Amino acid sequence: MNLKYLLFNNLLSRWLHLLPFTGVLITFLSITAGANELKEQEYNKADSIAFSKNYMVSAANPYAVRAGLEILKQGGTAADAAVAIQLVLNLVEPQSSGIGGGAFLLYYDGLNRELVTYDGRETAPEKTTQKLFINKNGVPLKFINAVVGGRAVGTPGTLALLETIHKHHGKVEWKDLFESSIRLSERGFTVSKRLHDYLRGNYGNYLRTFKTARNFYFPGGQPIKNGDLLKNLSFAKTLKLLSKEGVKVFYEGSVADGIENTVKNSAVNPGLLSKSDLKKYRVIKRPPICHYYRKHKICGMGPPSSGAIAIGQILGMLENFNLSELGPKNTYSWHYISEASKLAFADRNKYVADPDFVKVPTQELLNSHYLKTRAKLISSKRSIFTPAPAGNPKPKISRIYSSDPGESRSGTSHISIIDQYGNAISMTTTIEGPFGSQLMTNGFLLNNELTDFSFAPSRDGRLIANRVEPLKRPRSSMSPTMVFDNDDNLKLVIGSPGGARIIGYVVKTLIAVIDWNLDIQSAINLGHVVNRNGNTEIEFSTDAMKFANRLESLGHKIKIRKLNSGLHGILVTNDTITGGADPRREGVAQGN
Ligand code: GLU
Repeated sequence: MNLKYLLFNNLLSRWLHLLPFTGVLITFLSITAGANELKEQEYNKADSIAFSKNYMVSAANPYAVRAGLEILKQGGTAADAAVAIQLVLNLVEPQSSGIGGGAFLLYYDGLNRELVTYDGRETAPEKTTQKLFINKNGVPLKFINAVVGGRAVGTPGTLALLETIHKHHGKVEWKDLFESSIRLSERGFTVSKRLHDYLRGNYGNYLRTFKTARNFYFPGGQPIKNGDLLKNLSFAKTLKLLSKEGVKVFYEGSVADGIENTVKNSAVNPGLLSKSDLKKYRVIKRPPICHYYRKHKICGMGPPSSGAIAIGQILGMLENFNLSELGPKNTYSWHYISEASKLAFADRNKYVADPDFVKVPTQELLNSHYLKTRAKLISSKRSIFTPAPAGNPKPKISRIYSSDPGESRSGTSHISIIDQYGNAISMTTTIEGPFGSQLMTNGFLLNNELTDFSFAPSRDGRLIANRVEPLKRPRSSMSPTMVFDNDDNLKLVIGSPGGARIIGYVVKTLIAVIDWNLDIQSAINLGHVVNRNGNTEIEFSTDAMKFANRLESLGHKIKIRKLNSGLHGILVTNDTITGGADPRREGVAQGN
């Protein structure tokens, strides 16, 4: 690593930390350590803290935030705003999310003080077999070889999810929620630096192997540039159809034809997704998974996401340590967080998968006695050797499964909304990797979510819970979260992209707010230290780098790298609503 560069970045980031509320946009270059990341990327430092009395949106792109605010201003609900925001994100941040993907959503009904979760996760096509990701020699495919093309495309759930929340919680007419996205698709939007960087990076190279995407994103052979005006007329056409005819056209009509043909006839890895899979797709309403942490109720998405269970386990173990006394500047805070995280990931990798296919011991995993026993494995003297083995919360189940960490890339976005009626949404939405499967139809990209399954069905003679099965939903790490205070009032709405690191990003933010009393923007800004039961990853170019030597001396295997979260959160205190957006991406928080 270039030392001069490192020092420069360090100085700059320290200086930036002195300016938490200036609202200025400062850009600088940063070098990444991860081989799969962009080599050189602009780092947007736009402290976006926003205060309001009535409503607030925090999301990954200013166009999308604006679309949501327009709806909220007219009296729309959080559900209405989520529809408008997601459609615009599909257009302006196509590498991350869209109607070709899936999502999980927490909906808090402010009037009835009721929280529900909606599972709009992709499903494996009915014709899928356990050999989906096994080559002809019986060996699991290399991850990237499975990503590109039709093979990993799961039945998209995002649109069905949007329709469901609109039906149950919306006020504004469905067709009116399409105004911003149709207008921007037809008249064009300014391409962002982040989209351009992705187009000229590795994933852009995969994308340009497919004709439809190549013609659209690489006119004349060159990637669309930041600052260019980009129109997406075929997406506008799809949006118009959806606005008039509803989501049936996507799940049964002409858009479904386009999806089936694109997947089936993919030049690489033709896939199995068919119109009959699309027609059968259902959103599942599931009870939230809630647990207590220092008198706060933390609620999130249960299986098939591993988010709420892992967060609950980490915080449950950390209840045994006095983090508020230690504070964010003490190495031991990060040591304990990393250790608890290792142990939680060990359980996640073994026990969590689609609950409609495998018995997930959710209650046992979150049981406070069990977590106390697990926390006893954490020592102040020495870090746990990785990979730490899973615990034994329920012997009958522990014997059946073998462990598998899975792998995922970061093509995801998080949306947090509070409306003027006190309703709130926390929605994490994804097409899995950047640009998903790289297949494009009707102006949008299709996901590669099935690569979130474990590629091998078994290991050492034992089944892997997250193995591929027809109509099953792959395990996720997405962690849309809401926190309620002692009086059961909504306090925090948060979530992030980032593959399995999402869990660590969200945990850090929760601790920063609850234990360290930071405001939402400072909590988001705080440098990351994450552990997925392997290396302890420390965020490059942040104050967290100061902990590296001390953690190493405790036995952590340290890796310093860019950790590109996309935390978007809203904090409610007394009568003020405060929004924060991750400076590591292009998002903003805005309210009124
Ligand atoms: N597909 C991943 C999951 O569901 C999310 C990937 C990301 O965060 O970008 O866990």
